Amino acid sequence: MKKVGVATRWGLHTSTAGGLGEMLRRAEQMGETAAQIFVKSNRRWEMPSLDGEEAKEFRKGKKEQDLWVCSHAGYLINVAGSDETRQKSIRALAEEVRRAEELGLEAVVVHCGSRGEKEPSEARRRAVEGFQEALQRSGTQRVKLALENSAGQGSALARDVAEWGELVQSIPDQRRAACLDTAHAFAAGFDLRTEEGRSRLRVEVLREIGQENLVVIHANDSKTECGSGVDRHEHLGAGKIGTDGLRLFLRDPSWAGIPRIGELPPGEREDRENLAFLRASCSTT
Ligand SMILES: [Zn+2]
Ligand SMILES: [Zn+2]
Repeated sequence: MKKVGVATRWGLHTSTAGGLGEMLRRAEQMGETAAQIFVKSNRRWEMPSLDGEEAKEFRKGKKEQDLWVCSHAGYLINVAGSDETRQKSIRALAEEVRRAEELGLEAVVVHCGSRGEKEPSEARRRAVEGFQEALQRSGTQRVKLALENSAGQGSALARDVAEWGELVQSIPDQRRAACLDTAHAFAAGFDLRTEEGRSRLRVEVLREIGQENLVVIHANDSKTECGSGVDRHEHLGAGKIGTDGLRLFLRDPSWAGIPRIGELPPGEREDRENLAFLRASCSTT
Protein backbone atom coordinates (compact mmCIF):
# COMPACT_ATOMS: atom_id res chain seq x y z
CA MET A 1 0.00 0.00 0.00
CA LYS A 2 1.54 3.30 -1.04
CA LYS A 3 0.93 6.07 1.46
CA VAL A 4 3.14 8.75 0.00
CA GLY A 5 1.18 11.83 -0.99
CA VAL A 6 -2.10 10.31 0.21
CA ALA A 7 -4.16 12.74 2.26
CA THR A 8 -4.85 11.44 5.75
CA ARG A 9 -8.54 10.98 6.38
CA TRP A 10 -10.35 11.49 9.67
CA GLY A 11 -13.85 11.12 11.09
CA LEU A 12 -15.96 9.58 13.82
CA HIS A 13 -18.00 6.52 14.45
CA THR A 14 -21.20 7.88 12.93
CA SER A 15 -24.77 6.91 13.72
CA THR A 16 -26.96 5.24 11.08
CA ALA A 17 -30.15 6.22 12.92
CA GLY A 18 -32.71 7.13 10.27
CA GLY A 19 -30.94 5.00 7.66
CA LEU A 20 -27.74 4.92 5.67
CA GLY A 21 -28.68 8.00 3.63
CA GLU A 22 -29.05 9.95 6.86
CA MET A 23 -25.60 8.74 7.91
CA LEU A 24 -24.06 10.10 4.71
CA ARG A 25 -25.73 13.46 5.27
CA ARG A 26 -24.44 13.55 8.84
CA ALA A 27 -20.91 12.78 7.64
CA GLU A 28 -21.09 15.49 4.99
CA GLN A 29 -22.42 18.05 7.43
CA MET A 30 -19.57 17.35 9.82
CA GLY A 31 -17.04 17.46 7.02
CA GLU A 32 -15.79 13.92 7.65
CA THR A 33 -13.49 12.32 5.09
CA ALA A 34 -13.72 8.94 6.84
CA ALA A 35 -16.27 7.30 9.10
CA GLN A 36 -17.17 4.09 10.86
CA ILE A 37 -20.65 2.59 11.14
CA PHE A 38 -22.45 -0.43 12.56
CA VAL A 39 -24.21 -2.43 9.86
CA LYS A 40 -26.57 -3.82 12.51
CA SER A 41 -27.32 -3.32 16.20
CA ASN A 42 -23.97 -3.74 17.95
CA ARG A 43 -25.32 -5.36 21.12
CA ARG A 44 -27.69 -7.99 19.67
CA TRP A 45 -27.30 -11.09 17.60
CA GLU A 46 -30.38 -10.46 15.43
CA MET A 47 -29.95 -8.74 12.08
CA PRO A 48 -32.90 -7.23 10.27
CA SER A 49 -32.29 -7.65 6.55
CA LEU A 50 -30.45 -5.04 4.53
CA ASP A 51 -32.51 -3.25 1.88
CA GLY A 52 -30.83 -3.79 -1.51
CA GLU A 53 -32.00 -0.43 -2.87
CA GLU A 54 -30.72 1.40 0.22
CA ALA A 55 -27.37 -0.36 -0.11
CA LYS A 56 -27.08 0.71 -3.74
CA GLU A 57 -27.91 4.32 -2.91
CA PHE A 58 -25.35 4.25 -0.11
CA ARG A 59 -22.58 2.97 -2.37
CA LYS A 60 -23.32 5.68 -4.86
CA GLY A 61 -23.54 8.47 -2.26
CA LYS A 62 -20.36 7.35 -0.53
CA LYS A 63 -18.49 7.49 -3.82
CA GLU A 64 -19.81 10.92 -4.73
CA GLN A 65 -18.86 12.20 -1.29
CA ASP A 66 -15.47 10.48 -1.54
CA LEU A 67 -16.04 9.08 1.95
CA TRP A 68 -13.91 6.23 3.32
CA VAL A 69 -16.10 3.97 5.46
CA CYS A 70 -15.43 0.92 7.61
CA SER A 71 -17.81 -0.94 9.89
CA HIS A 72 -17.29 -2.18 13.43
CA ALA A 73 -18.55 -5.71 14.04
CA GLY A 74 -20.95 -6.43 16.92
CA TYR A 75 -19.55 -6.47 20.45
CA LEU A 76 -20.98 -9.93 21.19
CA ILE A 77 -18.76 -11.59 18.61
CA ASN A 78 -16.11 -13.79 20.23
CA VAL A 79 -14.53 -16.25 17.79
CA ALA A 80 -12.30 -17.61 20.58
CA GLY A 81 -15.28 -18.27 22.87
CA SER A 82 -17.04 -21.43 23.97
CA ASP A 83 -18.45 -23.65 21.23
CA GLU A 84 -21.93 -22.15 21.17
CA THR A 85 -20.76 -18.52 21.29
CA ARG A 86 -18.10 -19.28 18.72
CA GLN A 87 -20.55 -20.78 16.25
CA LYS A 88 -22.92 -17.84 16.68
CA SER A 89 -19.99 -15.47 16.29
CA ILE A 90 -18.77 -17.04 13.07
CA ARG A 91 -22.27 -16.90 11.57
CA ALA A 92 -22.80 -13.29 12.64
CA LEU A 93 -19.38 -12.14 11.46
CA ALA A 94 -19.86 -13.84 8.08
CA GLU A 95 -23.11 -11.91 7.61
CA GLU A 96 -21.51 -8.63 8.71
CA VAL A 97 -18.68 -9.13 6.24
CA ARG A 98 -21.17 -9.90 3.48
CA ARG A 99 -23.07 -6.69 4.27
CA ALA A 100 -19.92 -4.62 4.39
CA GLU A 101 -18.97 -5.87 0.95
CA GLU A 102 -22.45 -5.12 -0.38
CA LEU A 103 -22.13 -1.58 1.00
CA GLY A 104 -18.71 -1.14 -0.58
CA LEU A 105 -16.98 -0.61 2.78
CA GLU A 106 -13.20 -0.68 3.07
CA ALA A 107 -12.95 -2.92 6.13
CA VAL A 108 -14.77 -4.63 8.98
CA VAL A 109 -13.11 -3.94 12.33
CA VAL A 110 -13.47 -6.83 14.76
CA HIS A 111 -12.20 -7.65 18.25
CA CYS A 112 -9.91 -10.66 18.48
CA GLY A 113 -12.01 -12.36 21.15
CA SER A 114 -11.59 -13.47 24.76
CA ARG A 115 -9.93 -16.66 25.83
CA GLY A 116 -11.96 -17.29 29.01
CA GLU A 117 -10.36 -20.25 30.82
CA LYS A 118 -8.61 -21.56 27.72
CA GLU A 119 -4.85 -21.67 27.21
CA PRO A 120 -3.68 -18.67 25.14
CA SER A 121 -2.43 -20.85 22.28
CA GLU A 122 -5.70 -22.80 22.12
CA ALA A 123 -7.69 -19.53 22.18
CA ARG A 124 -5.57 -18.12 19.36
CA ARG A 125 -6.08 -21.25 17.28
CA ARG A 126 -9.85 -21.00 17.73
CA ALA A 127 -9.80 -17.32 16.81
CA VAL A 128 -7.67 -17.86 13.70
CA GLU A 129 -9.84 -20.70 12.42
CA GLY A 130 -12.97 -18.78 13.31
CA PHE A 131 -11.94 -15.72 11.30
CA GLN A 132 -11.00 -17.86 8.32
CA GLU A 133 -14.30 -19.72 8.48
CA ALA A 134 -16.29 -16.47 8.71
CA LEU A 135 -14.51 -15.07 5.66
CA GLN A 136 -15.15 -18.25 3.72
CA ARG A 137 -18.81 -18.43 4.71
CA SER A 138 -19.38 -14.80 3.78
CA GLY A 139 -18.75 -15.63 0.13
CA THR A 140 -17.02 -12.24 -0.28
CA GLN A 141 -13.94 -11.32 -2.28
CA ARG A 142 -12.75 -7.89 -1.31
CA VAL A 143 -13.61 -6.26 2.01
CA LYS A 144 -10.81 -6.53 4.57
CA LEU A 145 -11.06 -7.96 8.06
CA ALA A 146 -9.29 -5.55 10.42
CA LEU A 147 -8.36 -7.18 13.74
CA GLU A 148 -8.20 -4.68 16.59
CA ASN A 149 -5.75 -4.57 19.50
CA SER A 150 -7.32 -4.76 22.96
CA ALA A 151 -6.85 -3.17 26.37
CA GLY A 152 -6.63 -6.70 27.73
CA GLN A 153 -9.82 -6.31 29.72
CA GLY A 154 -11.01 -9.62 31.20
CA SER A 155 -9.23 -12.23 29.13
CA ALA A 156 -9.28 -10.34 25.83
CA LEU A 157 -6.74 -11.47 23.26
CA ALA A 158 -4.43 -9.02 21.47
CA ARG A 159 -3.37 -6.87 24.41
CA ASP A 160 0.11 -7.97 23.53
CA VAL A 161 1.26 -6.70 20.12
CA ALA A 162 3.03 -9.98 19.26
CA GLU A 163 -0.19 -11.91 19.93
CA TRP A 164 -2.23 -9.40 17.94
CA GLY A 165 0.30 -9.72 15.12
CA GLU A 166 0.10 -13.52 15.11
CA LEU A 167 -3.67 -13.28 14.64
CA VAL A 168 -3.42 -10.59 11.94
CA GLN A 169 -0.79 -12.54 9.98
CA SER A 170 -3.06 -15.60 9.94
CA ILE A 171 -5.67 -13.81 7.82
CA PRO A 172 -5.31 -14.57 4.09
CA ASP A 173 -3.25 -11.97 2.16
CA GLN A 174 -5.91 -10.11 0.29
CA ARG A 175 -8.20 -9.76 3.30
CA ARG A 176 -5.62 -9.08 6.00
CA ALA A 177 -5.86 -5.83 7.96
CA ALA A 178 -5.49 -4.35 11.42
CA CYS A 179 -6.97 -1.53 13.48
CA LEU A 180 -4.89 0.17 16.17
CA ASP A 181 -6.83 1.73 19.04
CA THR A 182 -4.83 4.34 20.98
CA ALA A 183 -6.94 4.06 24.17
CA HIS A 184 -6.54 0.27 24.15
CA ALA A 185 -2.78 0.51 23.61
CA PHE A 186 -2.49 3.01 26.49
CA ALA A 187 -4.56 0.82 28.82
CA ALA A 188 -2.42 -2.12 27.70
CA GLY A 189 0.70 -0.35 29.00
CA PHE A 190 2.05 1.81 26.17
CA ASP A 191 2.52 5.22 27.73
CA LEU A 192 1.74 7.48 24.79
CA ARG A 193 2.58 10.55 26.91
CA THR A 194 6.26 9.71 26.58
CA GLU A 195 8.54 9.47 23.57
CA GLU A 196 9.65 6.06 24.87
CA GLY A 197 6.06 4.73 24.94
CA ARG A 198 5.15 6.10 21.53
CA SER A 199 8.27 4.77 19.94
CA ARG A 200 7.91 1.32 21.56
CA LEU A 201 4.39 1.06 20.17
CA ARG A 202 5.55 2.22 16.73
CA VAL A 203 8.41 -0.28 16.65
CA GLU A 204 6.23 -3.20 17.76
CA VAL A 205 3.37 -2.37 15.39
CA LEU A 206 5.66 -1.92 12.40
CA ARG A 207 7.41 -5.21 13.21
CA GLU A 208 4.45 -7.44 14.17
CA ILE A 209 1.62 -5.94 12.10
CA GLY A 210 3.34 -4.12 9.24
CA GLN A 211 2.43 -0.64 8.05
CA GLU A 212 0.75 -2.02 4.93
CA ASN A 213 -1.74 -3.95 7.09
CA LEU A 214 -2.74 -1.08 9.33
CA VAL A 215 -5.84 0.31 7.60
CA VAL A 216 -7.40 2.38 10.37
CA ILE A 217 -6.49 3.98 13.69
CA HIS A 218 -9.11 4.32 16.40
CA ALA A 219 -8.07 7.64 17.86
CA ASN A 220 -9.48 7.70 21.38
CA ASP A 221 -8.31 9.23 24.63
CA SER A 222 -8.55 7.08 27.75
CA LYS A 223 -10.50 7.56 30.99
CA THR A 224 -8.30 4.95 32.64
CA GLU A 225 -4.62 5.01 33.57
CA CYS A 226 -1.81 3.60 31.48
CA GLY A 227 -1.57 -0.15 32.05
CA SER A 228 -5.00 -0.35 33.75
CA GLY A 229 -6.22 -3.01 31.35
CA VAL A 230 -9.58 -1.26 31.38
CA ASP A 231 -11.15 0.03 28.16
CA ARG A 232 -12.94 3.38 28.67
CA HIS A 233 -12.79 5.95 25.89
CA GLU A 234 -12.58 9.67 26.62
CA HIS A 235 -12.91 12.75 24.38
CA LEU A 236 -9.68 13.65 22.61
CA GLY A 237 -7.37 15.65 24.85
CA ALA A 238 -9.65 15.27 27.89
CA GLY A 239 -8.36 11.91 29.10
CA LYS A 240 -5.24 10.44 30.67
CA ILE A 241 -3.28 10.42 27.41
CA GLY A 242 -4.01 14.09 26.86
CA THR A 243 -3.54 16.48 23.97
CA ASP A 244 0.23 16.34 23.58
CA GLY A 245 0.63 12.57 23.72
CA LEU A 246 -2.20 11.90 21.30
CA ARG A 247 -1.15 14.61 18.91
CA LEU A 248 2.48 13.53 18.81
CA PHE A 249 1.46 9.91 18.28
CA LEU A 250 -1.00 10.71 15.49
CA ARG A 251 1.45 13.03 13.73
CA ASP A 252 4.09 10.32 13.49
CA PRO A 253 4.96 10.03 9.77
CA SER A 254 4.66 6.22 10.09
CA TRP A 255 0.88 6.67 10.31
CA ALA A 256 0.52 9.23 7.52
CA GLY A 257 -2.26 8.28 5.12
CA ILE A 258 -3.97 5.91 7.59
CA PRO A 259 -7.54 7.03 8.36
CA ARG A 260 -8.27 7.84 11.99
CA ILE A 261 -11.65 7.42 13.58
CA GLY A 262 -12.81 8.65 16.98
CA GLU A 263 -15.16 6.33 18.89
CA LEU A 264 -16.50 8.76 21.42
CA PRO A 265 -19.77 9.67 23.09
CA PRO A 266 -21.69 11.79 20.55
CA GLY A 267 -22.83 15.36 21.08
CA GLU A 268 -22.93 18.35 18.75
CA ARG A 269 -20.19 20.32 20.48
CA GLU A 270 -18.11 17.24 21.36
CA ASP A 271 -18.25 15.95 17.76
CA ARG A 272 -17.05 19.31 16.47
CA GLU A 273 -14.20 19.46 18.97
CA ASN A 274 -13.11 15.87 18.39
CA LEU A 275 -13.13 16.39 14.62
CA ALA A 276 -11.10 19.58 14.93
CA PHE A 277 -8.60 17.67 17.06
CA LEU A 278 -8.30 14.90 14.47
CA ARG A 279 -7.95 17.32 11.58
CA ALA A 280 -5.19 19.17 13.39
CA SER A 281 -3.43 15.88 14.17
CA CYS A 282 -3.09 14.81 10.56
CA SER A 283 -0.22 17.08 9.70
CA THR A 284 3.25 15.58 10.05
CA THR A 285 5.05 18.87 9.86
ZN1 LIG B 1 -11.71 0.77 18.90
ZN1 LIG C 1 -12.49 0.47 23.21
